[in-house]
Amino acid sequence: MRLVSFGEYGSRVGVVCRDGTISDITGLIPAGSDRRHGVMRQVIESYGEISSRLVDLESGGGGQRLGSVTLSPPVTDPSKIVAAPVNYLDHMEEMHQLSHIDSLGLFLKAPSSLIGHGGIVHLPYNNRRFDQEGELCFVVGRVARNVKVEEADDYIFGYSVLLDITMRGGEDRSTRKSFDTFTPMGPWIVTADEVGSVDDLELRCWVNGELRQDARVSDLIWGVPELLAYASSVMTLYPGDVISTGTPKGVGPICEGDEIVAEVSRVGRLSVTVTSLGAMFSVTRGGTAGPTQPSDEEPG
Ligand code: MN
Repeated sequence: MRLVSFGEYGSRVGVVCRDGTISDITGLIPAGSDRRHGVMRQVIESYGEISSRLVDLESGGGGQRLGSVTLSPPVTDPSKIVAAPVNYLDHMEEMHQLSHIDSLGLFLKAPSSLIGHGGIVHLPYNNRRFDQEGELCFVVGRVARNVKVEEADDYIFGYSVLLDITMRGGEDRSTRKSFDTFTPMGPWIVTADEVGSVDDLELRCWVNGELRQDARVSDLIWGVPELLAYASSVMTLYPGDVISTGTPKGVGPICEGDEIVAEVSRVGRLSVTVTSLGAMFSVTRGGTAGPTQPSDEEPG
């Protein structure tokens, strides 16, 4: 099943029906739900209770056309976005990094950086380099604390596509990857039952139609179960939390007017555009510390 967030500030949740229309399921959220949470989080929290009705709606249809609504990020208010720093060997090589996730662990992106499918990435500075990182991400379905790798699948609600937009330089990752609009996600969440094993999933990313990234998810250094188990040993994970699995080789600069498309087979195709309107001179210098640029060019 594919679930979308739409409407003002993502205040509606819908099932994508077999006829390509959206069936609005916001009214099916049980009365006892935690209204402090966004509607998709409430749907995930009560999914066991309402899923059979959603399956019926999915085969129905006749709702709003998918293309006629503005999609929000599938989860608008995750308690956190956890991300993997260097989780493909070929990306470690292109970045001239000496260490990967085994020694780096995980990092956090600000939930306020989320945008949906069709959104606009705003580059904040005119003297720094920004790159696209196409990634598979997953959404947590149940409260998870100290979960074993073998049990991790039980805690995964579904999958989506995520762009981890990144400023290069020596600042902490949480700074370089948390600017507003730096986490496009979507277009939807595909529930885990529909994706099955992630090992044969293929991840691709294009900028202006040029293929930059082309990888198999089975090449992840830490796979999905390992990421969930480790993250849950550090911090309690809540329904709706997003965990992004990392990016393969092929990251590169993005600039004004670019169109970025990221696609994961059986999951979805996410596209956004880029603007540098209003970009300022960077307050911090980035220095020479941190990840080396993946090419010898000076940052634009
Ligand atoms: Mn990344």
